[in-house]
Amino acid sequence: AALSPCPPDREELGTHSWTLLHTMAAYYPEQPTDEQRTAARAFIDSLSKLYACTHCAEHFREEIREDPPRVESRAALSVWMCKAHNRVNSMLGKPEFECVLEKLDRRWRTGEAHCHNGLADDHYEAE
Ligand code: FAD
Repeated sequence: AALSPCPPDREELGTHSWTLLHTMAAYYPEQPTDEQRTAARAFIDSLSKLYACTHCAEHFREEIREDPPRVESRAALSVWMCKAHNRVNSMLGKPEFECVLEKLDRRWRTGEAHCHNGLADDHYEAE
């Protein structure tokens, strides 16, 4: 979808941020190195301090204090991100997503039959 030429409101920033976060989790390594784990933790921690919706950021900081990011594998991070998003969904009265890797992959990585192939051609290993 085309981006609005206007600055994002809370909803627009939220949708695009979740796209980045769930996609990052969907493509996170199955067996991350220590450096990748540290980077994932630092990314999420920084986001919770710098996210431009400040009350959202404050809420997110509380969430990650209570349930720290699971960075040990692609599956763990994908499910953790889903649960984090569900806590916001439930606070806002939005439906919850079933946090099962297969469903998360279908939404954020492999796609349904009608979808273009996402990042499938974008394998940087081949470059
Ligand atoms: P979104 O909630 O943006 O979801 C986008 C898409 O993600 C959905 O269409 C669905 O396909 C998929 N999805 C939904 N749930 C899940 C899940 N659990 N796992 C995987 N995929 C899923 N807004 C506030 O008003 N108050 C807040 O405190 C607040 N905190 C936020 C904190 C963070 C870190 C972020 C990134 C956003 C926050 N937001 C907050 C914004 C809010 O979560 C929504 O993004 C916004 O309300 C727009 O909602 P939406 O209906 O477009 O769908």
